[in-house]
Amino acid sequence: MLEVVLAVAVLAVAAAIVRQATDDECYDLSDGERHPHKWGYTDTRFEFDGPKTVRVTGSRYPLAGFTMPHFIPFVEEMLQVPIDPDEIAVEKESHEVPPSRADESLVAAWQDALGAERVSLDDDERLIHSHGQLSVDEVYRLLYGDALERVVDLVIYPENEDHVRAIVRLASEHNVCLVPYGGGTNVSGALALPADDDRVFASVDMRRMNRIVDLDEDNL
Ligand SMILES: Cc1cc2nc3c(=O)[nH]c(=O)nc-3n(C[C@H](O)[C@H](O)[C@H](O)COP(=O)(O)OP(=O)(O)OC[C@H]3O[C@@H](n4cnc5c(N)ncnc54)[C@H](O)[C@@H]3O)c2cc1C
Repeated sequence: MLEVVLAVAVLAVAAAIVRQATDDECYDLSDGERHPHKWGYTDTRFEFDGPKTVRVTGSRYPLAGFTMPHFIPFVEEMLQVPIDPDEIAVEKESHEVPPSRADESLVAAWQDALGAERVSLDDDERLIHSHGQLSVDEVYRLLYGDALERVVDLVIYPENEDHVRAIVRLASEHNVCLVPYGGGTNVSGALALPADDDRVFASVDMRRMNRIVDLDEDNL
């Protein structure tokens, strides 16, 4: 009996540790690591396995691992562009992120109102929150071309209505431009920031407000 109780306790502790390790409220990686700036999982990509043949890496999809002899010829014919494996563009390994324009007193005001854990000045987070998935102007440019001209100055993670009220009040008091952020998946440049606007930009990431608390059935 004692062994069973101990085994259950060990399993419960192990489950709690695993849950804690994967319960990142900002970036849920539980179903696989995703690329930060482009669509898809890091374990899945096309790789050449012959001069004109490719296969999909990993084991996530049924297609993975099979050689596709007709895919590259098909793409070449459709796009009328020759594809040479030796001329594939190489992604940049690092990204330039301009310094945040949010000064110390502004950051302190957000942190006092919301808690430091809900305000981020991290460069990677600021960059992720400054674009959607518009292929050429955003994703291609970021991965292969110039840096984005303008990047949000801070990222805020509200968790309830009071936080949202505080965010709007502070934005109004400090002339900060708020940019709501859902999943960053729009393909219309909706998250692109105007380069000629001198205001501080704050991305308001809504992922922690993840419960339906009310439904207006009359207006459905
Ligand atoms: C691979 C791929 C396939 C797709 N397929 C389809 C498809 O088949 N059909 C389709 O319709 N779309 C498709 N899309 C587009 C995309 O899924 C939608 O545009 C998506 O719904 C955008 O939601 P989001 O939460 O990611 O918004 P975001 O990209 O985060 O934001 C989009 C805009 O909405 C604003 N916003 C975000 N949240 C709020 C909020 N709470 N309050 C006010 N404003 C807010 C942002 O400021 C921004 O201006 C696809 C995208 C990709 C990358």
